[in-house]
Amino acid sequence: MSNTAIVSLWRRYRAVSIVYRIGLAFVLGSILGLVVGQPATALKPIGDLFVRLLKMLIVPIVVFTLLMGVRQLSPSSLGRVGVQVVALYAFTSALAVAVGLGVSNLVSPGSRGLSLTNAEAQSAEAPNAVEVLLNIVPANPIGSMAEGNVLPTIFFVVVFGLGLSLVWEETDDEAVRSGIETFFDLAEAGAEAMYKVVWGAMEFGVVGVFALMANVFGTSGIDAILPFTLLIVTMLLAAVTHIGLVYLGGLVAGLAGRSPLAFLSGGRDAMVTALSIRSSSGTLPVTMSDADENLGIEERIYGFSLPLGATINMDGTAMYQGVAAVFAANIMGVNLSLIDQFSVVAVAVLASIGTAGVPGSGLIMLTLVLTQLGLPLEIVGFVAGVDPILDRIRTMVNVTGDLAVTTVVAKWNGAVDFTAEAWNDGVVPSI
Ligand code: ASP
Repeated sequence: MSNTAIVSLWRRYRAVSIVYRIGLAFVLGSILGLVVGQPATALKPIGDLFVRLLKMLIVPIVVFTLLMGVRQLSPSSLGRVGVQVVALYAFTSALAVAVGLGVSNLVSPGSRGLSLTNAEAQSAEAPNAVEVLLNIVPANPIGSMAEGNVLPTIFFVVVFGLGLSLVWEETDDEAVRSGIETFFDLAEAGAEAMYKVVWGAMEFGVVGVFALMANVFGTSGIDAILPFTLLIVTMLLAAVTHIGLVYLGGLVAGLAGRSPLAFLSGGRDAMVTALSIRSSSGTLPVTMSDADENLGIEERIYGFSLPLGATINMDGTAMYQGVAAVFAANIMGVNLSLIDQFSVVAVAVLASIGTAGVPGSGLIMLTLVLTQLGLPLEIVGFVAGVDPILDRIRTMVNVTGDLAVTTVVAKWNGAVDFTAEAWNDGVVPSI
């Protein structure tokens, strides 16, 4: 083959979105494992290399992306409406993880058909609740980072970021202020650079996922299809439950006192767009137009809450961490204690704040939850193959959550016109 032919083939290959290439690698690796059987496990070191790349990214991702998230929450930019929005965002995200954990505990998506050899799961003595809470605060932040302890690292970064924001507000010293701005700018640059590295790692992930799946199906055979199907079904069930109970029942009908169907009809453009493009940031213009034109919400509310939500409020992403944590625990044959599940809620909510509203970013954040639980990062490679589907569900939930919270806060602040189109042309009259 001539050089130009190779270059043009490479270009065509790169033109296909990475998630679809990973999806294809997932399918082809699985087929190879099924056809060849045990010898396919020889590819395992390639999968291990991908897992090492993911491990390498954990601490820098936490530091840079969470600093960016915390910058958005600087106390001065919040005010009364801001506090309401942020409190509801955090509360609904925690509920989303709980729903994800609850539904997946019922379904146990990974308990049949797949078992990981070379188990890395740590079966160390489970620490008691007091110890777990105490361990959230690092005695030595650098030590926690060096050891890759996720929760204490997150705690330190959040506290440090808030400290920076507070000093920025209070000080009259221009040098200090500009130092803090530079610091945040550096964090932003670092976060951008890390996303580049993540996508570089995902390029290798095409080969990595192929090798991981060849190993999985070479070891477990055809039975391994079941858990992946169940994973998708579990995520769908959790999403429907969360949207139904928390957004429609709790927020729209309960707190705003309006018809859930009217809300759905007003927000459906944003929901459908999120499903199709898998990015809450990309969907933002549509979400804003739904809030404004269909739901009659004033710009002073949605102009603040929706861009913030597209950056920090990721209920679907948080829920997915809960589902994937149980999936991973099932595969490893370990039970997640109540304390483990609480730590999943804490890490998942904070990780979702640091997740960018772009396709696939929630997948990388899964590394944090798995590390926190001492579960192997191979699982990230496994779920990467079905991520194009899971990501659609996550993003749709993310965007719906932003709109539902915005509706409630707008109602609380007298900033929604309930004579607007959706509320009245909706299929059902307001309750
Ligand atoms: N794609 C999601 C979003 O943009 C983030 C994720 O991957 O979870 O909202």
